[in-house]
Amino acid sequence: MPSPSRLAAHWRRDVARVLIPKTELARRVRSLAGKIETDFRGRELVIVALLTGTVPFLADLIRHLTLPLRLDFLGVSSYGDGTESRTLIYTKELRLDVRGRDVLVVDDILDTGKTLASVLAKLRRLKPRRIKTCVLLDKPNRRKRNLSADYVGFKIPNLFVVGYGLDFAEQYRNLPFVGVLRPEIYAGRCPAPVCG
Ligand code: 5GP
Ligand code: MG
Repeated sequence: MPSPSRLAAHWRRDVARVLIPKTELARRVRSLAGKIETDFRGRELVIVALLTGTVPFLADLIRHLTLPLRLDFLGVSSYGDGTESRTLIYTKELRLDVRGRDVLVVDDILDTGKTLASVLAKLRRLKPRRIKTCVLLDKPNRRKRNLSADYVGFKIPNLFVVGYGLDFAEQYRNLPFVGVLRPEIYAGRCPAPVCG
């Protein structure tokens, strides 16, 4: 774990603590890739990654895969008055044809499950051969939909986390670790990203 004194000053100011250090992220991503490689051996994969939070995770994951694969993105944003009554908007549609293909959906974090449920329904209509799901982080206690991911990097408690792709107000995606933001950073913001 990086000692606080080795973090950039503004990160030290904004991040209460490091939840998953970069060495642990690297080790886990490598092991997830190993499982995916075994499960899809002999197949050609279409990876459908959700923008934007997956970028560092996805980049690290695919560098460990030797399977033939193609990469596409879905843009999904949520708007609404808070964490519960959000409306999902697709900001980017698929470019590749997934009919009859083996699809791996990659997302940054599985929280209530609304995003992944919507994406899976959308993809199923396109008749892929099979769909598997992979998320870096999972907050199982927050689930509002009856689903789980096939590949999970880390199960975490109900904390609002940033870094390694995850943002608050589009910031902090470039932190090399997953960290917990100090509550005062989002205090007074509406809606606050309160989990629980
Ligand atoms: P769900 O639809 O499963 O409730 O939410 C998934 C999306 O919510 C994630 O893709 C992510 O954009 C956002 N999200 C959920 N929990 C967190 C969190 O702790 N930190 C950040 N930065 N985003 C989160
Ligand atoms: Mg997301």
